[in-house]
Amino acid sequence: MKTAFIILASQKIQREILAHEHTLESLDRAIGDGDHYINMKRGAQTITEMAADLAPLQPDAVLNKIGLKLLSTIGGASGPLLASFFISMGKSLQNNNASTLNIAEAFAAGVLAIRQRGKADLGEKTMLDVLIPVSNQFLLLTQQGRDTSHICRSLIATAELGMLATKDLIASKGRAAGLGERAIGHIDPGAKSCQLIITTVCNLILNDE
Ligand code: ADP
Ligand code: MG
Repeated sequence: MKTAFIILASQKIQREILAHEHTLESLDRAIGDGDHYINMKRGAQTITEMAADLAPLQPDAVLNKIGLKLLSTIGGASGPLLASFFISMGKSLQNNNASTLNIAEAFAAGVLAIRQRGKADLGEKTMLDVLIPVSNQFLLLTQQGRDTSHICRSLIATAELGMLATKDLIASKGRAAGLGERAIGHIDPGAKSCQLIITTVCNLILNDE
């Protein structure tokens, strides 16, 4: 993973988030407080505006810097959670010549940080219902030595399934936890934005091949 790729990916992610304003806003209006789109938009804009400062840095420092910046710019529950993902992923990443396995391990370290910070796990109707299965699948496929395009296509499908699965769940973490059964029938907004981000990054890699 190269710094130029992270910068390009952040621009594509920003575009995707802006294109899904209605979806992200209405999902959080249904089972949260309606600010998830604003939070994600602000986070994405902050990262793309950092491009010139990030360009000369090594990928681990880039991820760390993004995490620290998100901590102070995105509000809500999602800000500190996503910030801890980037900071922990940065700590585990080897620079420049990181193998796919190292990237998968660093991704897993980022997801673990979200689990620890949010005290949440699979099945609680959060972003982790996308991130945990994607991380597990990423590790499994890299350990099996699968090629990049197979991995990308599989992770896109895994993210989609995880996102859709949140629809039938009752929330036990976050704002939706107070809704009980009324949360059933609605996709979790954080799961939707993580699915969008993972899909965008995987498509970028697929189109680059
Ligand atoms: P807030 O809930 O403070 O308004 P956002 O609307 O930006 O913040 O983000 C809501 C999303 O954050 C939820 O949809 C869920 O995916 C995620 N989330 C909330 N609490 C947790 C938690 N403890 N662990 C993991 N994810 C969480
Ligand atoms: Mg919200």
